[in-house]
Amino acid sequence: MRAVVMHSPGDVRVEDRPDPTIVDPTDAVIRLTATCICGSDLWPYRGVEPVDHTNMGHEYVGVVEQVGEDVRTVAVGDFVVGSFVTSDNTCEICQAGYQSKCVHAEFVSVASGTQAQLARIPHADGTLVATPGQPDADLIPSLLAASDVLGTGWFAAVAAEVGPGKTVVVVGDGAVGLMGVLAARELGAERIIAMSRHADRQALAREFGATDIVEERGAAGVARITELTGGLGAHSVIEAVGTEESMLQAIRSTRGGGHVGFVGVAHEGVSLPLDELFFAEVHLHGGPAPVRRFLPELIRMIWERRIDPGKVFDLTLPLEDAAEGYRAMDERRAIKVLLTL
Ligand SMILES: [Zn+2]
Repeated sequence: MRAVVMHSPGDVRVEDRPDPTIVDPTDAVIRLTATCICGSDLWPYRGVEPVDHTNMGHEYVGVVEQVGEDVRTVAVGDFVVGSFVTSDNTCEICQAGYQSKCVHAEFVSVASGTQAQLARIPHADGTLVATPGQPDADLIPSLLAASDVLGTGWFAAVAAEVGPGKTVVVVGDGAVGLMGVLAARELGAERIIAMSRHADRQALAREFGATDIVEERGAAGVARITELTGGLGAHSVIEAVGTEESMLQAIRSTRGGGHVGFVGVAHEGVSLPLDELFFAEVHLHGGPAPVRRFLPELIRMIWERRIDPGKVFDLTLPLEDAAEGYRAMDERRAIKVLLTL
């Protein structure tokens, strides 16, 4: 099969790799219908995370091609969407809704790498969700978004306790931040303030439900949020970047007793001052999103055409042109790149 391999920072190639096969009886092998490049794939691309001939990709939709003998809930021929973390969906942690911390959690990028024609998905029963039928082609980008960015933005909004009557701030205008805006709208937020200084992303944020845009960052950004919220700060803040600066901006934009949902991937060395956290008196909840918790509901909303998260893909390329896709995202020419197979 053809698959994306990152040899070293900035060196993305599409190469032949052996077809994946069933290893454990709980595995499925899927034939990808579409895949995509994640903002988190830019960390190794930029040399921030180690990379050495690494199989890339963790977002996926496709058709089940083989199943192990213990797989019960998905069958050959099913169209499936799965989380970027595997889960058995039966352990106590899964039952509590934290499938990304399942006792069998494994990153799909490590298990297989989904920027490829085929992928092996461990714990298929607990990781994959079949759609009601074969989707129309125009639904595929939205279903693919559910696999990570939509599920992650949704978790951030839930973690930030977004709900009716609330004012929500979204820090970060990448794909996940934009999905956080959409989630906040669907969860009934009264006011959604997107922090963005890019015209194209501001326009998309407004389309997804943002009522206000704040272009300022850092102290000026916090001052603007304070002003817009009558001096109180927001009830709910979604953090979708993962740096100390963005996290502090999120915390400082939250009112006392408010909630921060943080899903930007943090890296080694990023730290927060405990004294400031102590006196901020806000709730912090975040991490790798338990996307599997939300997949059935997200698939249903997409299937009923109530939401159109697929609009977050603003560049579509064939898998063979993956290197150009990485460049476009790295240079911020694209918000998110869909790769066709
Ligand atoms: Zn589990």
